[in-house]
Amino acid sequence: ERIVSSLIQKEDREIEANLRPKWLEEYIGQDKVKQKLKIFIQAAKERKEPLDHVLLYGPPGLGKTTLANIIANEMGVNVRITSGPAIERPGDLASILTNLGEDDVLFIDEIHRLNRSVEEILYPAMEDFALDIIIGKGPSARSIRLDLSRFTLIGATTRAGLLTSPLRDRFGVMLNLELYDKYSLQEIVKRSSKILNIPIDNKGAMEIAKRSRGTPRIANRLLKRVRDYAQVMEDGIITWDVAKKGLMMLEVDELGLDQVDRKILLTMIESFNGGPVGLDTLSAATGEERTTIEDVYEPYLLQIGFINRTPRGRVVSRKAYEHFKIPFKEEEEG
Ligand code: ADP
Repeated sequence: ERIVSSLIQKEDREIEANLRPKWLEEYIGQDKVKQKLKIFIQAAKERKEPLDHVLLYGPPGLGKTTLANIIANEMGVNVRITSGPAIERPGDLASILTNLGEDDVLFIDEIHRLNRSVEEILYPAMEDFALDIIIGKGPSARSIRLDLSRFTLIGATTRAGLLTSPLRDRFGVMLNLELYDKYSLQEIVKRSSKILNIPIDNKGAMEIAKRSRGTPRIANRLLKRVRDYAQVMEDGIITWDVAKKGLMMLEVDELGLDQVDRKILLTMIESFNGGPVGLDTLSAATGEERTTIEDVYEPYLLQIGFINRTPRGRVVSRKAYEHFKIPFKEEEEG
């Protein structure tokens, strides 16, 4: 498995459970999101109402699950965690909904992957806290409405555009999580080191931060592996020098790029003259799925300015050519 993948891996689970901040105060970065949430949470508490339904969207590993837990904590309610693919039938969702306590939070990760019949149960549940059940079949069938407890739905997805519009329209709060800057990631690495008892200095933490692709999940994973290197090959302390050597061993370059990024960028340069290339064409040429390119690889490449989006497709920037030491050709007119 790729060490710089933002998708959760088996060995991340245990460490992530220990490292999750529990309160908004401990949640590093994402200042705009935190500021809005703070106000909405306080307002809901003052009115003694559940928080409005919240949609969190942004690339994997940025802290959506963490935020859902924090929201429940701050509201002083329980949280029930599930995911779109895990809810197979309408009855599964109905049973989850009827078991929620007053004002509880229901977190549905990958909410865009709910199937249609399940999604339709959510509409009256979100809008009226009600469950419509059809009893009987054929001409004698009738619908009865059951009341549910008031609750807050928190949905998470990589892009808001993946949701159907009836579902999207039922969220009162939409929050976009963005890739973290290196300073926030450095703070996250330092916080995690403290919890895990890993000796590290500021420059060591920054070196890990810079190679983490704007993603806390990757920062925590790199920290763990660099700790192993520091322990076995050095004296256990993660200094700048030790971090650089450890990361070199892990084959993570100075920008956190790996073979998959190189493949994507070099395919664009070598086979398409730097672009513009459409996503489907790029997917066919690299053998990577379109949605994976769009949701997992591309956000970081856009953030570091290695590719740009144009109406005709993706284009590789001069900066990326320079990184690969390939001469950059200006586009000729006509
Ligand atoms: P997502 O649900 O978006 O995929 P998670 O909530 O599972 O991401 O976060 C992945 C890991 O990153 C968790 O271990 C969490 O502790 C850490 N993390 C995410 N955001 C922050 C943050 N703002 N501050 C500190 N740690 C964070």
